Amino acid sequence: MTATLSKIIWLAFGAAWLLLRQRPGRRSRKTPVRYSARGAREFALLGASLTGLGIVPGLYLTTHWPRFADYPVSPVLSYLGIAVDCLCLWLFYRTHRDLGHNWSVSLDLRERHTLVTTGIYATVRHPMYTGFWLMAVAQALLLPNWIAGPAGLIGFSILFFGRVRREEEMMIAAFGDEYRTYMRRTARVVPWLY
Ligand code: SAH
Repeated sequence: MTATLSKIIWLAFGAAWLLLRQRPGRRSRKTPVRYSARGAREFALLGASLTGLGIVPGLYLTTHWPRFADYPVSPVLSYLGIAVDCLCLWLFYRTHRDLGHNWSVSLDLRERHTLVTTGIYATVRHPMYTGFWLMAVAQALLLPNWIAGPAGLIGFSILFFGRVRREEEMMIAAFGDEYRTYMRRTARVVPWLY
């Protein structure tokens, strides 16, 4: 395993993830939004996540900046990164299948929005965010650089901690006790733990 190969693998998983989101994206865009909590705050949170998971590692791959933060590649870490990225892709596939037309990149409620509590959503109420955490961990494992590697964890943690409570409040406002009961029997992102 070389540093170049590890970087190419990170890129390949990124491309596969983008492809996987195409169909759900088209489908959800067809369903009109009836309420949105988008605004400057959501814009900034999405920007932070995109910077950490896309822009910083993208710069690293194309310009090799910040070169001073490089460290020697470790095959064990790279193989672990591949395993985590496989789990991540599977989780995105499952969450999109279960969430269907209810999916949005931001905080929206769509027309005919239904509360999904089955499939992967029966155990965890934010499995797509679990997928993003896994994506960020895989990035840290695959990119042998002290800045470009952990950038995803920093960027996504800003989005996650800045959004998750507001998302749950929005779901409570829309679904009331149904969502409150659902919260009591599910974990946020890690089954049975958190
Ligand atoms: N937080 C979820 C969904 C992310 S997509 C996850 O990590 O899997 C964000 C959109 O999903 C929000 O706009 C919200 O309207 C919708 N959403 C979140 N949880 C949902 C659920 N259990 N059922 C239906 N829609 C949900």
